[in-house]
Amino acid sequence: MNTLNFDDQELTIECPDCKSPVTFTIKQVGSSINCPNCKSIITLKDEGLKNGLANIDTMVKNLFK
Ligand SMILES: [Zn+2]
Repeated sequence: MNTLNFDDQELTIECPDCKSPVTFTIKQVGSSINCPNCKSIITLKDEGLKNGLANIDTMVKNLFK
């Protein structure tokens, strides 16, 4: 059986300030990260990640249904 660790699944969002791609992992959702480019604090709310997490959410549902 494969071990799937979705906590380490990497996702990328666009920094709202400098538009740089910022990589984070699912386990960071709900907390805040710093943009590596402009050091802006980005709060990873589920609400604001609809686009980025839509596919992951579907994938997780399919795997665990
Ligand atoms: Zn930035």
